[in-house]
Amino acid sequence: MNAPSDVAALARAKAGATVELAGITKRFALRRGEVVTALESFGLSILPGSFVAIVGPSGCGKSTLLRLIAGLDRADHGSVRIDGEPPEVAATGHRIGVAFQDHALLPWLTVHQNVSLPFKLAGMPADRSRVETLVAMVGLAEFAEARPPQLSGGMRQRVSIARSLALKPDLLLLDEPFGALDLVTRRALNLEMQRVWESLGTTTLLITHSVDEAVQLADRVVVMASRPGRVHATFDSHLARPRTRATTQGPEFTALVRRVADALDDAMSGDGAQHVRAMASREP
Ligand code: ADP
Ligand code: MG
Repeated sequence: MNAPSDVAALARAKAGATVELAGITKRFALRRGEVVTALESFGLSILPGSFVAIVGPSGCGKSTLLRLIAGLDRADHGSVRIDGEPPEVAATGHRIGVAFQDHALLPWLTVHQNVSLPFKLAGMPADRSRVETLVAMVGLAEFAEARPPQLSGGMRQRVSIARSLALKPDLLLLDEPFGALDLVTRRALNLEMQRVWESLGTTTLLITHSVDEAVQLADRVVVMASRPGRVHATFDSHLARPRTRATTQGPEFTALVRRVADALDDAMSGDGAQHVRAMASREP
């Protein structure tokens, strides 16, 4: 029935990395000997070329998880494997692309130079045509020589996404990359993100606050619960691709958004109930 999208899925499956997370526990020591368990027994398998979105309450360990996968920090227990290898190995092979919310572009470099930066940092000659392709792919060809202060927030985020793709990563990690953007820009970037992902086949893990965004972009949506951070529920999305504005107005989309939002409410109910009680007690 969905033959074309199955073919596309197969084509994608060849490009991206497989991610296996098993039994991950991560604790942080605070002052006075207190300990925060950011993640406990966290497990997740991500298929090559697939798009996984994670939603969860603030402080439930999402960024910690991404840092562990990127090899920027180490778990206390459990394992992270990217195509069977520890993240440090994948990272030194430049197979992981990262775009976090604070996009950290260098303001004195042009768009083209910012996107070229990963080559420089890796001690490799910049691939000019690849950089140009990426800049064009995120719709900034006309702004290649502009500098970040001359760009809008949405444009800067797009530069950051292009930069994360510079070294052809097999795995793309996005930590709320659209967080600070207005709704219209965010929608445009969602469509663009989808296009980039469909054309490159990179395994993608996106952390987002937006249930709509998660359902629109992902093959699988993971809802996390906090204290300790863990998987609360997962949902598979079989909505046909590409997912357009029409998709997001359809009943299938709306129903899935509602189910994910309900799971998120459920995951937050402990914290939420306390918050509501605290608010109520302040009422005159
Ligand atoms: P999220 O991204 O879901 O909002 P984080 O992964 O940033 O959550 O944090 C999860 C928990 O771990 C929070 O309680 C946070 O305060 C704690 N935490 C994260 N990083 C550190 C750190 N470097 N030192 C101490 N605590 C930390
Ligand atoms: Mg975070």
